[in-house]
Amino acid sequence: MNFKNSEKLYKKGLINLVGAVNSPVRAFSSVGGNPLFIKKAKGSKIIDVDGNEYLDLVLSYGPMIIGHRHKKVQKGVAKALKNGYSFGASTENEIRLAKMVCDAFPEMDKVRFVNSGTEAVISGVRLARAFTGKDKIIKFSGCYHGHQDSLLVAAGSGLATLSIPGSKGVPEEAVKNTLIAEYNNLESIKKHFDEHSDIAAVIIEPICGNMGVVIPQHNFLNELKNFLKTKGALLIADEVMTGFRSKFGGAQEVLGVTADITCLGKVIGGGFPVGAYGARNEIMEQVAPLGGMYQAGTLSGNPIAMAGGIATLTELKKQNPYHKFEKIGNAIEIILLETAKKYKVDLTVNRFGSMLNPFFTKEIVTNFKLAQTSDTDKFAVFFWEMIRNGVFLPPSQFEAWFLSSAISARDMKKLTIAVDKAMKAVSKM
Ligand SMILES: *Cc1c(COP(=O)(O)O)cnc(C)c1O
Repeated sequence: MNFKNSEKLYKKGLINLVGAVNSPVRAFSSVGGNPLFIKKAKGSKIIDVDGNEYLDLVLSYGPMIIGHRHKKVQKGVAKALKNGYSFGASTENEIRLAKMVCDAFPEMDKVRFVNSGTEAVISGVRLARAFTGKDKIIKFSGCYHGHQDSLLVAAGSGLATLSIPGSKGVPEEAVKNTLIAEYNNLESIKKHFDEHSDIAAVIIEPICGNMGVVIPQHNFLNELKNFLKTKGALLIADEVMTGFRSKFGGAQEVLGVTADITCLGKVIGGGFPVGAYGARNEIMEQVAPLGGMYQAGTLSGNPIAMAGGIATLTELKKQNPYHKFEKIGNAIEIILLETAKKYKVDLTVNRFGSMLNPFFTKEIVTNFKLAQTSDTDKFAVFFWEMIRNGVFLPPSQFEAWFLSSAISARDMKKLTIAVDKAMKAVSKM
């Protein structure tokens, strides 16, 4: 396997692009070497510009849940393309996708479409402040909610990988209303409420995927929701990653918790730029044109993106692959743990349905601090050996691996062999 064309493009890309990437998670900063350039993808597989074929466990960081270039999605989008790309006026497909989304999340009466997960969360937070008339937001260390100023503190994978504490260019003013709590620790939330009377909301990844996968323990989310109710504060579920992935109704459906405001992205557009935020009527009526909270977008509800979203969600609902995800996810978990045992490598695997990742640590990982006990040098060796054996993983210890419904028995065989070789390489370090 060689990467000559990727190397060439990387050098060329450095001239006019920042680091030759348009999102820092795509850079190979923490694993070394150059980022791969992709030519195309189909189903469960992705092919780079050197013709190397990989089983794709990145899946565009989540959106490609039914695999790449599904026929139904291509057809839906092609049909939309014929009618025009953007109108600056409403189309029927926006209503159709809105209904699909509201039907999936029972607490959601209305939804507003935006263009990314970041935008969805910016708006969801503004909405919580508009509705409660309060300013402070609590977030959890290790959770990532997009790159808006006020939430770019203690923000998980991208930042952990690059070792940037917060971000340059974010004024202290912008984060003065952001409070940090520890995942799976209700006391750390209660403490903030003891000290502050103006907390609008707590924002959480109900299943966290941005410090690696971290799962809420012992009814944590239910207890959090009940506690917030007594304080008149809202729960914002950032389901940009988990929405339609953990279950069709997101992590909320699996965990039996309903948030006041839900933010969506990734799967909702099936690879096209769609984000959304939604809530019950009483809350959404704050949003312009019904209410005084302003939020707008030239390309919001874009007809091509709506068609991609509708086709993806329709096919996803039909396939209902969540049982398959559980089975395959569990099989991968076992492969990882048994191979680690065989080669005497310390490994913890966290998994929730079709999101999983191994941590190179012997700790049980329930929060960001514990995630950071992982040996990232070991991950780097593991990563490259997986690449050389045809499995494309996110180039960071702190990113989740994703499954698509297109994964086959043959893919699983390839994965098993790759894991054996990669774990062996790690054991020789
Ligand atoms: C990816 C992600 C975002 C940001 O979405 P973008 O589309 O990258 O802006 C926000 N929150 C969570 C939980 C995410 O996983």
